[in-house]
Amino acid sequence: MSRLLIIGCGGVASVAIAKCCQRDDIFTEICIASRTKEKCDDVKAKLQDKTKTVITTAKVNADSKEELVNLISSYKPQAVLNLALPYQDLTIMDACLETKVDYIDTANYEPEDTDDPTWREIYEKRCKEKGFTAYFDYSWQWDYKEKFEKAGIMALLGTGFDPGVTSVFTAYAKKHYFDEIHYVDILDCNGGDHGYPFATNFNPEINLREVSANGSYWEDGHWVETEPMEIKREFDFAQVGKKDMYLLHHEEIESLAKNYPEIKRIRFFMTFGQSYLTHMKCLENVGMLSTSPMMFEGKEIVPIQFLKALLPDPASLGPRTKGKTNIGCIFTGIKDGKKKSLYIYNVCDHEECYKEVGSQAVSYTTGVPAMIGASLVLQGIWKKAGVFNVEEFDPDPYMEDLNKYGLPWVVDENPVLVD
Ligand code: NDP
Repeated sequence: MSRLLIIGCGGVASVAIAKCCQRDDIFTEICIASRTKEKCDDVKAKLQDKTKTVITTAKVNADSKEELVNLISSYKPQAVLNLALPYQDLTIMDACLETKVDYIDTANYEPEDTDDPTWREIYEKRCKEKGFTAYFDYSWQWDYKEKFEKAGIMALLGTGFDPGVTSVFTAYAKKHYFDEIHYVDILDCNGGDHGYPFATNFNPEINLREVSANGSYWEDGHWVETEPMEIKREFDFAQVGKKDMYLLHHEEIESLAKNYPEIKRIRFFMTFGQSYLTHMKCLENVGMLSTSPMMFEGKEIVPIQFLKALLPDPASLGPRTKGKTNIGCIFTGIKDGKKKSLYIYNVCDHEECYKEVGSQAVSYTTGVPAMIGASLVLQGIWKKAGVFNVEEFDPDPYMEDLNKYGLPWVVDENPVLVD
């Protein structure tokens, strides 16, 4: 018997919950807790008569450690799966520490208020020392390592697709195909079309912050930073076709560089259409991507949060989105003294995802690995006290579950490389 507390009930959570309910032998009881309890009740109503998983719901403000501790203490889960926003990572980790419960998430910490002077001071020091300026980084959560070890609990960080599956692909490539990996290119292609001139596929605030920031990549032991969208390549993606892709900073680069010091270069590319980029630039130029609060007609608003209210809810894109995603990693390295390259990727169809769980593929490709990570922790297959990224565990059971639960992968031993 196992009991999982899931925090957040947006696009990613609704897929993860649906997938947990397909595995009611492992997820015997789940509690869905979020800021808006009605969303949790709606998800429960859709699923409860199709599964043996016993679903309960609760209202929680995950910015409050006290509310979280009360909820965890009364529900008594074995683990907490955080599918709220990266802003809540640290309060949820604090609550897990106090209640001695395992913690799992899909995105590393970033602050909601990037003008907060205490955070800003640490951030600016980190930018100088490490050489990348993204608002998010792993240092905050890695700092919990000793505390989690002492408490005898684990934190599994970043079990979405990227980070998550891309990191597990790296561990799998290393275990089965390479003696040493020297180059990794992570390619994230969304060939889907939702028919809107502009919408984001996951939380708009988090998505636009990430995409409008400077790019960066890891090379020869240090970060190389670029202007936003400075590096562009074209790539022909299997089952999608040719797309323009742009180099972004991405969080798994940081953990892969730490866990695989042999890797000489790690880059991350994401595809964007011209319409998306033009809209984003325009919104940025007029100040709509700002995260700083401002007064408007006597009320304080944050421009990017106001923009979020105007944009389509990512969860509503499901029925409109056609096409496929293709996300994977191209590795180059050495096996038995010979140079070799390998491409591991997954192709996911937006319409198939919608048919199965009522969501588009971006939520699906994150929600399924969130469920897999949680299942491995609950079953004790991935279990160690401390704070870990997914590539630090045996990749094989995770890779098997990807094939079983909707994200089958392909190994191409003769890939076209990105220059
Ligand atoms: P959504 O905005 O759709 O959902 C977020 C959910 O969190 C909502 O239910 C929201 O509640 C809830 N929430 C927000 N703040 C609080 C709070 N203070 N207390 C309680 N609940 C709160 O986001 P997504 O589902 O698109 O994304 C979820 C997570 O997945 C994010 O962290 C995102 O970065 C991550 N992600 C990871 C990816 C990966 O591959 N690793 C890819 C895509 C996303 P309400 O409904 O009231 O607003």
